[in-house]
Amino acid sequence: MKSNVLGYPRIGEKRALKRAVEGYWKKKITEDELSNVSKELRIKNWQMQSDLGVDLISSNDFSLYDQVLDMCITLGCIPQRFANLSGLERYFAMSRGLQKERVDVKAMEMTKWFDTNYHYLVPEFTKGQTFSLNADKIITEYKEALALGIKTKPVIIGPVTFLLLGKEKEEGFNRLGLLDSLLPVYEDLIQKLDKLGVAYIQIDEPILATDLRQNEQLAIARSYACFNNLNTNAKFILANYFDCYGDNLDLALTLPVAVIHLDLVRCQNQLDDILFHPLFDKNKTLSLGLVDGRNIWKNDFENSLKAINRAKNKLAEDKIWIATSCSLLHTPLDLEFETELHPEIKQWLAFAKQKIDEVVTLQQLASDKENKSALVKLKANHHAITLRKTSTLIHNQRVKERVNAITDADTERQNTFAVRNEQQRSVLNLPLFPTTTIGSFPQTKEVRAWRAKFKKGELNAQEYDKLLKEETEKSIRWQEATGLDVLVHGEFERNDMVEYFGEQLDGFVFTKFGWVQSYGTRCVKPPIIYGDVQRPNPMTVYWANYAQSLTKKHVKGMLTGPVTILQWSFVRNDQPRSETCTQIALAISDEVKDLEKAGINIIQIDEAALREGLPLRKADRQHYLNWAVKAFRIASSGVKDQTQIHTHMCYSEFNDIIESIANMDADVITIECSRSQMELLNAFVDFKYPNGIGPGVYDIHSPRIPTLQEIEQLLEKASKLLPLKNIWVNPDCGLKTRDWPETKLAIENLVKSAKKMREKQYHAI
Ligand code: GLN
Ligand code: ZN
Repeated sequence: MKSNVLGYPRIGEKRALKRAVEGYWKKKITEDELSNVSKELRIKNWQMQSDLGVDLISSNDFSLYDQVLDMCITLGCIPQRFANLSGLERYFAMSRGLQKERVDVKAMEMTKWFDTNYHYLVPEFTKGQTFSLNADKIITEYKEALALGIKTKPVIIGPVTFLLLGKEKEEGFNRLGLLDSLLPVYEDLIQKLDKLGVAYIQIDEPILATDLRQNEQLAIARSYACFNNLNTNAKFILANYFDCYGDNLDLALTLPVAVIHLDLVRCQNQLDDILFHPLFDKNKTLSLGLVDGRNIWKNDFENSLKAINRAKNKLAEDKIWIATSCSLLHTPLDLEFETELHPEIKQWLAFAKQKIDEVVTLQQLASDKENKSALVKLKANHHAITLRKTSTLIHNQRVKERVNAITDADTERQNTFAVRNEQQRSVLNLPLFPTTTIGSFPQTKEVRAWRAKFKKGELNAQEYDKLLKEETEKSIRWQEATGLDVLVHGEFERNDMVEYFGEQLDGFVFTKFGWVQSYGTRCVKPPIIYGDVQRPNPMTVYWANYAQSLTKKHVKGMLTGPVTILQWSFVRNDQPRSETCTQIALAISDEVKDLEKAGINIIQIDEAALREGLPLRKADRQHYLNWAVKAFRIASSGVKDQTQIHTHMCYSEFNDIIESIANMDADVITIECSRSQMELLNAFVDFKYPNGIGPGVYDIHSPRIPTLQEIEQLLEKASKLLPLKNIWVNPDCGLKTRDWPETKLAIENLVKSAKKMREKQYHAI
């Protein structure tokens, strides 16, 4: 029996890699220095895993920016626009774009890695393109570890996953057709690694966790047949994770690989499905992904040992490996840094380093019943798991009762949109093409410095409050002067749209150093939802009230929705996610009602992450959408007809979920639209979306100021597609990452364009 770790976080303690890479970008450190820091990080990670006793330690899991980008370099899949660049300059140009002297190249596109919050760079493909091997990184890293006496298992992304995760950059061909020219490069790579004496190569094919067409399955079969024909001593580990093999199981079981890895966290039934499968060849090794690479909870050893025993009944011991479910990239580094975490909760957790120990301990427990230190750990684990199950911190009877008492009436507004809309029109008294923003205004250096000082105790609560009030008042005055119709308070008091709420809700804790890579050097620190969620006190009423007291115009209340709070947190695993989401929804609904009571007539509930929570397999999507939409409805339905509920989503693909979006029954939805020149509206138009809609008229991700004409053109387009009375005018998303000067100019143009549209329409009438 062996222990197998699919990959380890590379960000380093306290985000050491971020500091080094950004230091290099700012020319504060040299390329050599960056390379030294990177090497030290790798060595530390390997050494630690080796000291803890891991048998199969990954290499090539390190990356200066992204592992998919690294794979592009390895395979020579470099878009033409970077052809004149080389080395690190090219590498970072591909990741972030490059603007210098006469060079102006755009970065590669970035998108989410399966259903994680990690973003990878999207490989670009052109017709007839060729590939060429550059194995330097993989080989160098393998040799580095070897110099320490550690024989690693290089990890590469499999050819079909690589192709399918990419995009065709010209029309008239299918990227899968490039497989023929890609496979020889993979073969070359595998042979090079074999020559080095590599024992195992981990080939990641997580595309197997999605629904594949027959030609895609055939492409996978063909790839592995080619690899097998090489007759290498190096053996292949087929690594799928994030979901079951599903309909791809027959294929996976018949591929000529030595080891099949299963994610037993996401897909518990898979073990029996395979053990009893007629196609399963008992000469193959199963790598049991028991230790959760996507969450931060301690493994339940007794449970895991049960699964291992089931495998042992069918397989020889040397055909069983104990593994992490996926790479540990998605978990924070080391729990030991968290000296201020609630001690009881801390015992329930395991971060990446602790998970390594779990993998090894499970392997020891399963292979050697007498291993004393492992037995001590088993006892401690049992104790921690029992404590968690029975902890008084987790369970709140009142919350459970409330969830159970939810009826259909709690998920429905009093009347239909048509009726509500009439009432809202008379209360709100808004013009045609009402203008608004998405919530946040620039979080300037000053604002962030106040918060930092307040946290350090250098500003007291009153001083901090006063500064925020001044900033809020300034923003209200400016919005009034600019002529916006529906104002916002600006969110200056918020650090982050999830953290701000989590900090005020029961059932959440926060780490100090629990960073997880989101993309490149950007890391996030997701909150941990450990227990029943409840809102002890109003969370936003104070600021909404204050802002509304300053003006006669309507100020929109601003909340983060239950699905988004769930999606951007580490969620408890002792009950279904839907249950936790419902609890959050109830907390948000309390807030909604309090805002209404305080005289706030318009309340926005952001659901930025609704789309990204969509399961990988189509068959699971409707179930998710049902509970996610229900959660939104619970959060938003408790108000009078006159109160207008807005929602906001900054996601680009609405086609496949438009029905669910309509089911949310928000009075107004604001969406991203400008980058696609309103193309994204089509889903709403085709569906005849009945409620209010604000198609974002400019891209807030760029400092560029949209011209009057541009905005007007987009509004003209929208006017042809949607009923005029449904159209709202707003930017794409919140403005917190922008500066004030550009924000002011952009919003002025937005307001002017809306006014022009109004004039035109009146003339038309
Ligand atoms: N209200 C939030 C803001 O304006 C919405 C952000 C988001 O959708 N990502 O910042
Ligand atoms: Zn947004």
